[in-house]
Amino acid sequence: MPRKKTLHKKPEKKTRAKKAATLTTPRGMRDLLHNEYFTYQGFFEKAADIALYYGFQPIETPILEKEEVFARSVGEETDIVAKEMYAFSTKGRDRVALRPEGTAGIMRSYIEHGMLSLPQPVMLYYHGPFFRHERPQHGRARQFWQFGFEMFGTDQSVADALTIKLTHLILEEVGIKNLCVLINSIGDDQCRPAYIKELVAYYRKHINKLCTHCRKRLRVNPLRLLDCKNKHCADFKKDAPEIVGFLCEPCKRHLKEVLEYLDTMEIAYQIDHTLARGLDYYTRTVFEIVSQVEKNEVNENKDAESSDSDTQKDQGADKKTDQKEAVEEESLSLGGGGRYDNLARALGSKRDIPAVGAAIGVDRVTKAPGFSAPTPRVVKRPKVYFIQVGAGAKFKSFEVIEALRMARIPIAHSISKDTLSAQLGMAEKAKIPHIIILGQKEANEDAVIVRNMTTRSQETVPIAKIGEYFKKH
Ligand code: AMP
Repeated sequence: MPRKKTLHKKPEKKTRAKKAATLTTPRGMRDLLHNEYFTYQGFFEKAADIALYYGFQPIETPILEKEEVFARSVGEETDIVAKEMYAFSTKGRDRVALRPEGTAGIMRSYIEHGMLSLPQPVMLYYHGPFFRHERPQHGRARQFWQFGFEMFGTDQSVADALTIKLTHLILEEVGIKNLCVLINSIGDDQCRPAYIKELVAYYRKHINKLCTHCRKRLRVNPLRLLDCKNKHCADFKKDAPEIVGFLCEPCKRHLKEVLEYLDTMEIAYQIDHTLARGLDYYTRTVFEIVSQVEKNEVNENKDAESSDSDTQKDQGADKKTDQKEAVEEESLSLGGGGRYDNLARALGSKRDIPAVGAAIGVDRVTKAPGFSAPTPRVVKRPKVYFIQVGAGAKFKSFEVIEALRMARIPIAHSISKDTLSAQLGMAEKAKIPHIIILGQKEANEDAVIVRNMTTRSQETVPIAKIGEYFKKH
């Protein structure tokens, strides 16, 4: 008879109960807390006011889109899609991505909902969080917030001018100083190929001295050669051919008209021949708006665009980027955009839909010199501090607070506190002009005591008459 196997259980190691690690936000992402939340909300409201005034309507698209929406529009070989996009497969094996930018999703929505049959141009604005797996540093986060707007269905230069004007106006209205528009035209399908040929021929001569990224760009995305922040590559930029000499007549005229509008509106601008922007879908106008600061003398010799893939690598890399941060500090763009006449076809439209748009980076704006946070409409300065004393009064508190809310009287309270002195102390600290006291006696009489904190006078007012009382006073 086979011997019965005896299962020897491993003796349990005596381990101390593991303490649960404190959880934090993912690297490069953060909570919007306290007043900062209201700062963002105030900015969005202000920007929406201006956009609505100029005829834009709100739109909200999903934060998650099919990966293809970005691969086909922003471009598979761009840094944003190739290196920075949070793309993954769902349980149903769909490939999706957290949106790294707004335009592609909104164009997808425009086509999907047949907005081409609406009167053109269709003008839309949006705001919300966006995601790019970049190395977190000054002015660069992995989750950041943008306010953007798009004009679909017009190829008119006035639409480009309006887009630039609006971006500029929003920044100006929140107090940002020394604004300057950097502008360029990157031509269209007619004239750009000849320029690219010339650009590639020029950079090929220096191929051995280019950074590894630029060597790849030579093959896959030559316009981005102009964007490289590497000191050695940047040196070649000076003598690189300028696209303006290659623009076809319609593109030249378009640029000239946009600049004329900027002149008329007295918007300061600089033509930046090296401005190409990192997305494939642009045609003709591209622009960025910066708040100009005094230049620091900084030696930049690190390749600015090495990619990273995990937290530890990130942290090591941070030290190396101090110098880069200083360089970028002087040139961080607060917002940017451009024309994208070919995007619709890339996303499956049967017809061309000429369009132009821009996005403002809210995180950078709220930290820019001169920024003054607009107060959001939901935030009201309390006019009354509500105090309750005694169990009966606490039960009746909600009736009083509702009477005040219906009368639109903003209040503050500390309903979880019990003593008069604790609540009075808070009311005085908050410097609120009136207090309302609900004691046991008042609760029984359906009334409250209203005290004017400046004159110290007080009177008893029936709860039902609170609204009327404050209207009179
Ligand atoms: P883009 O979508 O790249 O044209 O960027 C538009 C604006 O968004 C920029 O001008 C920045 O202000 C902001 N922005 C872009 N990427 C980031 C980021 N990683 N962190 C914070 N702000 C960003």
